[in-house]
Amino acid sequence: MGIEAALPVDSVLTTQLQRVVNWARRSSVWPMPFATACCGIELMATACSRFDLARFGAEVMRFSPRQCDLMIVAGRVSVKTLPVLQRIYLQMAEPKWVISMGACASTGGVFDTYAVVQGVDQYIPVDVYIPGCPPRPEMLIEGIMAIQRVIDNDNIPRDPTGKRLPLQIALEPNYRPRAQPARLSVGAS
Ligand code: SF4
Repeated sequence: MGIEAALPVDSVLTTQLQRVVNWARRSSVWPMPFATACCGIELMATACSRFDLARFGAEVMRFSPRQCDLMIVAGRVSVKTLPVLQRIYLQMAEPKWVISMGACASTGGVFDTYAVVQGVDQYIPVDVYIPGCPPRPEMLIEGIMAIQRVIDNDNIPRDPTGKRLPLQIALEPNYRPRAQPARLSVGAS
């Protein structure tokens, strides 16, 4: 990691155990990809080399809830799928986090029908809402970094009984979409 080059080999570091635990936790956030629709493609792109989610220690997608601490809901959730989403959430290890990725997961998006859940936060606690249809990979990374900052500062909100409260962070778009359709120019051949 380079620290052995920066320090003499016989040096001693002291720190608080809680800081080490927080550092380890935020450096190894393992996502549970609950990708049900097109937002899932952007989720996959985030793990590819161009965006490289591994830089944030969060590229290890697990498909077993007991090995995950970050659920990423990417896409619309139907009423029929909802019990599966809830069961997976309940089976995940504490402390756990939830990102609602895209308009459909957060609000139902354009699918204003009785068959689509109009916001997963009605059924599971959501920590970060990512806007967009779909959000770009940079936005997802921004959401993961927001959770990492909370873990790092040991700032996990709890109610007086000790129950975990959702962070409810709503991100702002960090890019300006180009006007569509994009203007085309045809060069002389
Ligand atoms: S928000 Fe847009 S891109 Fe994402 S699942 Fe819904 S329709 Fe697809």
